[in-house]
Amino acid sequence: MFCHSSRVRLDIDSLRTLRAIVESGSFTGASARLHLTQSAVSWKIKRLEERLGHALLVRDGKTIELPENKEIDIDAKTITKDNVEAYWARLKELPNIDFRPGIGFAQMLARSNEAIVTLSDGHQLSTKLVIGADGRNSAVRRAAGIDVKTTRYGQKALTFAVTHDAPHDNISTEIHRSGGPFTLVPLPDHDGKPCSAVVWMEHGDAAMRLAALSEADFEAAANERSAYLYGPLKLASRRSIWPIISQIAQDLTAPRTALVAEAAHVMPPIGAQGLNISLKDLSCLLDLAIAQPDQLGAPKMLDTYARQRHPDIKLRVTGIDALNRASIAGNPMMQSLRSKGIEALYGVTPIRRTLMQMGLGAR
Ligand SMILES: Cc1cc2nc3c(=O)[nH]c(=O)nc-3n(C[C@H](O)[C@H](O)[C@H](O)COP(=O)(O)OP(=O)(O)OC[C@H]3O[C@@H](n4cnc5c(N)ncnc54)[C@H](O)[C@@H]3O)c2cc1C
Repeated sequence: MFCHSSRVRLDIDSLRTLRAIVESGSFTGASARLHLTQSAVSWKIKRLEERLGHALLVRDGKTIELPENKEIDIDAKTITKDNVEAYWARLKELPNIDFRPGIGFAQMLARSNEAIVTLSDGHQLSTKLVIGADGRNSAVRRAAGIDVKTTRYGQKALTFAVTHDAPHDNISTEIHRSGGPFTLVPLPDHDGKPCSAVVWMEHGDAAMRLAALSEADFEAAANERSAYLYGPLKLASRRSIWPIISQIAQDLTAPRTALVAEAAHVMPPIGAQGLNISLKDLSCLLDLAIAQPDQLGAPKMLDTYARQRHPDIKLRVTGIDALNRASIAGNPMMQSLRSKGIEALYGVTPIRRTLMQMGLGAR
């Protein structure tokens, strides 16, 4: 996930920082919102401006904002001051949304018929249902007293973009070898050349060594690892590094609370499962809320949500964990077991069907 402006590709982290500054109107507001020091926020913006070769923000001493007519492209979608403001204006317009940028969840007290939520600015709200959609370190989950089971693989993922000669035909490809898969995800053309995002999973120390290589050496290593599928790969972004974990919440619900997305489940980035599974959580909650609005956040609704979502989440987290472990395996015996394991996974019809539904591209 990255963006480009004037043909420069940028990472989502820098953009989040930029957005936090623009939304909160200050570096102080952004640092509070992102839980970063103010100097870390300044450094990220300085680095972003250096990469773009021009200043991004207009600072008039008191306020900070995007200059008029300044464009930043994200994956072919253009963000300008005008349309960022249009998104915010649209959110503010919606009668059922109270949009409070820069303000987070702090704590809550669940009662039998409502939850009282305290926000980071000290305001309190009462609500029938709190949805924890606040990521893998969810504060809502902690406040609800829900524990997690976390598996660490000693792996990291390098993420970056490349251009190449051969077309990707909009097909995502995973190349498995020891250390973890090398995944090419199709992106729109960049500088008139086919372009892909890469997620390269490796043992932690190997990933750190790769991240520190010069651009030319890194490209040579990536070419070799891609088996030259699309011809020589040319880096088109900076490299980011992510720890790989699998995590599942012990419960999906607590009184007046439901967890969704990474607050409930995290899995290695294999088979592009993150978004799909999170959308299923949301759609399940929505269906239940529409079916019986008077039951919103009541034990009956929350039990049904947990019953409907838990088996699917468990299956996916377990399946992706198995595929990842098979993919990490390095020695020849494990490699052979791995391919047999993957063959077996693909060979058993119900599992194959499930994997296909999960978007894993079973043959
Ligand atoms: C290397 C890598 C590659 C991936 N590739 C893919 C892929 O190709 N396809 C795919 O589908 N998935 C992919 N994923 C997974 C995907 O990134 C996640 O599934 C997705 O980002 C999770 O969304 P989320 O909303 O649960 O969490 P996040 O994206 O982490 O969002 C959580 C939000 O909660 C906010 N927040 C945190 N604390 C608070 C608080 N106290 N109060 C209020 N708000 C708060 C944060 O600011 C943030 O905006 C990948 C993940 C990794 C690491």
